[in-house]
Amino acid sequence: MSALKPLIAGNWKMVGLPADLKSFADAMRAWSGGSRGGLLICPPATLLAAAVQAFDGLPIAVGGQDCHAKASGAHTGDIAAPMIAAAGGTFVIVGHSERRADHGETDAQVKAKAEAALAAGLTPIICIGESLAQRQAGETLAVVEASLRGSLPSGDLARVVVAYEPVWAIGTGLTANADQIAEVHAHLRKVLLSIDGTGAAVKLLYGGSVKPGNAAEILATPDVNGVLVGGASLVAADFQAIASAC
Ligand code: PGA
Repeated sequence: MSALKPLIAGNWKMVGLPADLKSFADAMRAWSGGSRGGLLICPPATLLAAAVQAFDGLPIAVGGQDCHAKASGAHTGDIAAPMIAAAGGTFVIVGHSERRADHGETDAQVKAKAEAALAAGLTPIICIGESLAQRQAGETLAVVEASLRGSLPSGDLARVVVAYEPVWAIGTGLTANADQIAEVHAHLRKVLLSIDGTGAAVKLLYGGSVKPGNAAEILATPDVNGVLVGGASLVAADFQAIASAC
């Protein structure tokens, strides 16, 4: 782990009703443990403002799971970055592989979303990752580098977070091993440093079937500055175990 303060981020995806938020927040309030990292929950948009309230007084930031590239307009069903900020959110995930797959989002669109997030004062968490076919073809480093370069906002990177999430490891129970994670993160760090001096400040998260049982090893991997957790972030006890693993 580098000197960057780790970030333990939960992505609830399209899961969660008010009662789930309440029991999660109650469990976090009753938690006697702690974490060296910053904690973040990205609930569905319907729970964003309620999560800010439910976590009041707790060291848990709240973020969106996506934002539009524009600040407002005729885009039915979309959410703009200033709306997330106004609801009390401070982060937003952009370019998650599920959005890239379900909505055909391109690197250029992800870059525009990241820039919109920064303009609204949010920290974008830019997700990139290779498919199983790409990994088996030996294309992993080239794929993630191209996606990183295409998705990064222009200018200062100091407020940007990048999440490496191999598509084949998301929700599958398969996790990249420490060597695979270290190889990709070292490459991403090298690319970030070559783009801008502020690249050293970018937190590099790993995501893909992070669980209490593998979190400590992943968080101890060189150049890993935190984790982006899907399924296991829905269970407060699991999220707590992961958070205390750093
Ligand atoms: P998972 O999801 O932890 O359920 O694999 C991770 C993610 O999609 O961010």
